[in-house]
Amino acid sequence: VIEVEAVHKSFGDLHVLKACDLTVRAGEVAVLVGPSGSGKSTLLRCINQLEEPTAGRVLIDGEVQGYQSDPLPDGRWQKLPSAQIAAQRSRIGMVFQRFHLFPHLTALGNVMEAPVQVRGLPKAAAEQKARTLLERVGLAERADHYPSELSGGQQQRVAIARALAMDPELMLFDEPTSALDPELVSEVLAVLKDLAADGMTMVVVTHEMGFAREVADQVVFMDEGRILERGTPEQVIDHPESERLQGFLASVL
Ligand code: ATP
Ligand code: MG
Repeated sequence: VIEVEAVHKSFGDLHVLKACDLTVRAGEVAVLVGPSGSGKSTLLRCINQLEEPTAGRVLIDGEVQGYQSDPLPDGRWQKLPSAQIAAQRSRIGMVFQRFHLFPHLTALGNVMEAPVQVRGLPKAAAEQKARTLLERVGLAERADHYPSELSGGQQQRVAIARALAMDPELMLFDEPTSALDPELVSEVLAVLKDLAADGMTMVVVTHEMGFAREVADQVVFMDEGRILERGTPEQVIDHPESERLQGFLASVL
């Protein structure tokens, strides 16, 4: 379960997130939509501690992210030691618009890297796991190819396998298909659908409304740092209430 409670984020004078509240239950898929600059990426980055909220907090399975769960007697919140923050972060997989694969490693090497380097998994076990994951994203035959030898859609699927290799409890996707040629989008969305069907808890920033309709338990519309509307795909996509959302949908549908 992800609980985002009254999260604010400012960069200097720029108030980017304003009192954002979001609950994603175990096994649910939340799709986050909104215009450019509305704060979608920043909200994802607050969930996995790439950014620290200016106010408010994020809980994963009841654990406050980045801080001791109880305040000190004087009311101050105490930051967790970095090893514990790293442990919290390692439970969350993240996939970006750009794939950020290691160019000097094969697909297999990319997927094996973190389990070996971070978790200390023996190489043979890591390789077996990586091959299973590559098979899961439909790339068993491409295990020995380098990123430069793979299409964008294949690279993104390697990136997803790489994130899964750390056995995340939840996955965050930030516009995972928006850098892809149109004909490659569906192969990546198919992997996301498969993960969702498998019960993975996911937050996905995407403008693929067909995907949202099919997979999302809730669609969340952000505008200027606030969550303006949320609900089932039916409610949000088919019956938008605000003019802002109506205008936004007109631009993406
Ligand atoms: P897009 O659809 O273009 O990806 P977004 O909804 O993901 O947009 P964010 O990337 O979260 O939007 O950015 C929200 C606002 O915060 C923007 O005005 C952006 O310029 C600003 N911003 C984001 N990160 C930083 C940063 N590190 N420093 C300063 N401003 C930032
Ligand atoms: Mg973004």
